[in-house]
Amino acid sequence: MSTYLKNLNESQKAAVLHKNGPMIIIAGAGSGKTRVLTYRIAHLMNQKIDPFNILALTFTNKAAREMKNRIAEVVGSSEAKNLWMGTFHSVFARILRSEGHHLGYPSNFTIYDTQDAVRLLSSIIKEMQLDKDKYKPKQVLSRISSFKNSLITVKAYFNDPELIEADKMAHRPKMGEIYHQYVERCFKAGAMDFDDLLLRTNELLTRFPAVLAKYQDRFKYILVDEYQDTNHSQYLIVRALADRFQNICVVGDDSQSIYAFRGANIQNILNFQRDYENVDIFKLEQNYRSTNNIVQAANSVIEKNKTKLDKEVWTENSAGPKVKVMRTYTEAEEGRFVASSIFENKMNLQLKNSDFAILYRTNAQSRAIEDALRKKDIKYKIYGGLSFYQRKEIKDTLAYLRLLINPKDEEALKRVINYPARGIGTTTIDKLSVAANHYKKSIFELLTNLNNYDININGGTKTKLNNFVTMIQHFQIEAQSKNAFEVADLVVKQTRLIRDLESDGTPEGVSKVENVQELLNGIKDFIEEQKQKEEDDSLAFFLEDVALATDFDSEKKDDTPRISLMTIHLAKGLEFPYVYIVGLEENLFPSAMSMNTRSELEEERRLFYVALTRAEQQAYLSYAQTRYRWGKLVDCEPSRFLEEIDDKYLEYLTEKRQEPVQNKYINEDIFGSVPQNKIRFKKPIQRTPIKKAATAKVEFRPPKKLKKITKTKVSNSNLFDNNITVGNIVEHTKFGKGEVLSIEGTGANQKAEIRFASVGVKKLLLQFAKLTII
Ligand code: ATP
Ligand code: MG
Repeated sequence: MSTYLKNLNESQKAAVLHKNGPMIIIAGAGSGKTRVLTYRIAHLMNQKIDPFNILALTFTNKAAREMKNRIAEVVGSSEAKNLWMGTFHSVFARILRSEGHHLGYPSNFTIYDTQDAVRLLSSIIKEMQLDKDKYKPKQVLSRISSFKNSLITVKAYFNDPELIEADKMAHRPKMGEIYHQYVERCFKAGAMDFDDLLLRTNELLTRFPAVLAKYQDRFKYILVDEYQDTNHSQYLIVRALADRFQNICVVGDDSQSIYAFRGANIQNILNFQRDYENVDIFKLEQNYRSTNNIVQAANSVIEKNKTKLDKEVWTENSAGPKVKVMRTYTEAEEGRFVASSIFENKMNLQLKNSDFAILYRTNAQSRAIEDALRKKDIKYKIYGGLSFYQRKEIKDTLAYLRLLINPKDEEALKRVINYPARGIGTTTIDKLSVAANHYKKSIFELLTNLNNYDININGGTKTKLNNFVTMIQHFQIEAQSKNAFEVADLVVKQTRLIRDLESDGTPEGVSKVENVQELLNGIKDFIEEQKQKEEDDSLAFFLEDVALATDFDSEKKDDTPRISLMTIHLAKGLEFPYVYIVGLEENLFPSAMSMNTRSELEEERRLFYVALTRAEQQAYLSYAQTRYRWGKLVDCEPSRFLEEIDDKYLEYLTEKRQEPVQNKYINEDIFGSVPQNKIRFKKPIQRTPIKKAATAKVEFRPPKKLKKITKTKVSNSNLFDNNITVGNIVEHTKFGKGEVLSIEGTGANQKAEIRFASVGVKKLLLQFAKLTII
């Protein structure tokens, strides 16, 4: 038996050894799905299947690289190199480079990232003189994206009265027209956005049977990881390609489907057996990643979801410590708790930074955590913030490179035509944009022959435009004899981009110069690597690589071990010995925007399941009682997910907090409308029934049936007479909100120690303090 098969249990082995035909591996988190997929590919190659005939689709490019390296260990790197492996976007971008001409695209088409797309939509909305508050470019883009992912073309849109009506109802009657303009402009610019890479692939495979046949023939074996998060467009591509040989192997976990908001369709995995004939189903239920406490805690939450396939996840791993829960007063304190805990664990258990991950629901949460980590001098790395390639100076440099490769690239041109400043104003650019539309030419084409067109631009500006064009053309000529690095180097020098950044003189300016330098180093490395692999080392290929780089791919080469900070969405498929999940608060996690329907809430729950199952040895869950959100300090209540975990797997590091009543929706039937400060002194509030009412039973009831208890203003005399008590949340006119920590003295001498989010702990004489219980 080959050695790699020894590293598999019986069910895993069966899946690896499965012969031909459709198969689905449906299994819980950490049960070895990705390992099986990897070994299966190695096994196929051992069976003399040509790697050119194997297509493997992964969730990130990093995952593809890791898989390739593993496979190389088994079959040798020269063979593994020939596998078709990558994300949907990168694999099909590659195919579109050679086949896009059927659809009228040049092989050097540009890939527009989200920022390019938003900029283009902004100009379209402006040119159409629409109200940009009604037509918010980001929202318009997400609507267009949903059309594309459902294969609704512009024509299909205008043939669908329901869609038109829906946009009218949403006060965006011009949606179809914007969509039309956007598609035209991208096409004219020789550009595809991310969704186009899938949409155009579908178009290619449906409209050109010979092309379809060619790729069906090539991809005799197709394997897809994280199948639960494929969208309709991806689903159709896989179906079309697998149709001939039906050697399709998909791997996924319906409980980890977390991208519905981006069009992922959980039905793809649920319907697999319907879509293909004679499907062999493999279930993997043994978790190898996590301790039993983590596995069971995660199971106890996910079982609350109604939509799911039946599967049991268990482990032979030791019980391990319980999942620890921490309540803090503020988000800053939460950050400090996480940082101290990491520090202690590192010291006590001799761990490395790379053993830790901190996961959150939204990017904004990282700031408080970062502050605390920095104070403790713990090195960290954020994934998914503004990644290296999204920084302005990098995008500007890349825009020059894009433009010389594809002069039709309108967004690249607009980025750099007046950067560094050369006296070409926005009015001129707008005029050019309108004229380009009118003459059905690209802006660059107009610029090469300005006098042939009727555009109202004065002589001085014309000279400036001519100089710009001459410079770009000069780069194009140089690019024919120079390699990618030399061209880039020439560009940053001759455009005076570096000099512009240097002249700024601030530390930020210096770091920007370093970043551009780092980009050049990156291009150098790229050329070396590609040469070694005997792969394409052209500038065009570099640009494609960058355009499709996910957050993990833009990691700088750096040997310092760092803690990983990322959103839960990005953590999919990864594992870390110690995981901190922060911000477990209602309205944050689950997110306020996902509580309207059962299916949204179930997706949030799956997200929590994904988060918890990243942990190998220990998970920490934390929540703050107050948090700044949208510039305001808000009270938070613990997430329902904490309640949903079976208590026997939890250890509370702080007392479970008795819920303050304020800011909470309470069922009137239970409490009537007694003012809240009166309730406080009655029997302790039965937290569980309220919570249950707010979650399990009333979960999907519209909020109007629930009454929000309003703030009760209490006068000062009232306060020191009777009402204020430890645990109250109060509002001070100057310090804002705070929690009463202790009370001492009586009558006029009564003082309270109050911890304010803004200024920390203060002792105040109640007689004078202007406090309101809230
Ligand atoms: P996820 O659902 O998070 O994507 P997964 O099902 O893809 O998880 P893997 O990442 O493949 O799971 O495996 C989880 C961990 O368990 C990995 O560290 C892997 O190396 C290990 N593992 C998987 N199968 C075995 C096995 N048979 N023996 C020992 N370790 C295993
Ligand atoms: Mg996996």
